[in-house]
Amino acid sequence: MTTGRPPASGPATPDYTPESGDPAWSVDLYDLDLSYRVATNRLDGTATVTAVASTRLRRLSFDLVGLRVDKVRVDGAKTRFQQTATKLVVTLPGEVEAGVRLVVRIDYGGAPAPRRTTWGELGWEELADGVLVASQPNGAATWFPCNDRPDDKASYRVSVSAEHGYTVVCNGELVGRRTTPGRVTWTYEQPEPTATYLATVQIGRYETTATALGDAAAPVAGLLVSPPGLHDRAEHDFADLGDMMTCFVEAFGPYPFPSYTVVVTADELEIPLEAQGMAVFGANHVDGQSGTERLIAHELAHQWFGNSVGLASWRDIWLNEGFACYAEWLWAERSGGPSAATQAGRTHLRLVLPPHDIVVGDPGPALMFDDRVYKRGALTLQALRVTVGDAAFFDVLRSWTDANRHGVVTTRDFVEHCVAVTGVDDGSLPALFAAWLDGTSLPSLPRAS
Ligand SMILES: [Zn+2]
Repeated sequence: MTTGRPPASGPATPDYTPESGDPAWSVDLYDLDLSYRVATNRLDGTATVTAVASTRLRRLSFDLVGLRVDKVRVDGAKTRFQQTATKLVVTLPGEVEAGVRLVVRIDYGGAPAPRRTTWGELGWEELADGVLVASQPNGAATWFPCNDRPDDKASYRVSVSAEHGYTVVCNGELVGRRTTPGRVTWTYEQPEPTATYLATVQIGRYETTATALGDAAAPVAGLLVSPPGLHDRAEHDFADLGDMMTCFVEAFGPYPFPSYTVVVTADELEIPLEAQGMAVFGANHVDGQSGTERLIAHELAHQWFGNSVGLASWRDIWLNEGFACYAEWLWAERSGGPSAATQAGRTHLRLVLPPHDIVVGDPGPALMFDDRVYKRGALTLQALRVTVGDAAFFDVLRSWTDANRHGVVTTRDFVEHCVAVTGVDDGSLPALFAAWLDGTSLPSLPRAS
């Protein structure tokens, strides 16, 4: 298991989560059939994983943390496996060649809990009365056996049964809801390629409102899921979501999924979180006065940047966060607030203050969620916008999300894309990106001419 697949382009460098994921194989489909008891935090289930060998191999190494495996079958035959604190290693009946497809069925269960990482506790988390899953970057293994790397996107079918009275929300579309005495089974399908960290389950005593978002000609199904006591405040604070969708579709291109679900938990959360086709906010993020409009724009923008156009490697995290932060400025600009240039100028003034010790294009695992990755990443886009002009800038963004829809990318891909789309091939754009992303000293913001 040594012949890893290099990123789509760019030099191979150590990733930020070397303990997670296995490049020797990839996943086409996770079919998860789960039973959960909120009252006792007990999860039992079967994961049926359609795996494809990327190289010749004899075993498959899954990430799985805190849950015990009872039985593994490969293509229907019971097989040997070993489990450590973080891995499930499945021995294949025989050696398989690259390209061979295997259906691995794993029966497992236990009391799921978050995983302690450099970035805090990640993954399956009990709320006061429900569940939240927030996995970025490597918490997915706390609830299902997976190949936990950002570049291995797969389709999902997730079925979760829980006690009556709870709403279960997973990625994708609800395709079935079956009631048995005392329990309800919710089944969701997400055919669009999805990174493991963006797969999620949200459980709570929620009510749901449906709305159409964006242009009437091509509406996106919007769902607002929140505790009844917070519903009025949530409806008020998310009232602009439709206009925001219209604004971002115009700026970034078509919304990449059929629906967008907003979950508001009864608990307070440190920060809102993006998931595939979904965003999760805490009770503290809805104040009934649109106090978190900026964050609402940020999470919606991740559906294009991060979720559809995904990362080949975590070191390029600015491609998610810099773009989502820029979207906050764009929404403010288009909804009567200060222009992106004004917001960029203010942000630049703050970043002039030391320390200048971060390389935004490769911040290292400890700093990958540092605020400067977000802000300086957004400034990089403002510098690009001023340099190439509005028409070329938005052409770049729309063609970027189109060319890489549901794919994975690197910073080098983006730089090459900018050169190709703008026709500015005198080396000035690679130099601009190098100054903003590869150095520590803060470049000046170019001025509009
Ligand atoms: Zn973000």
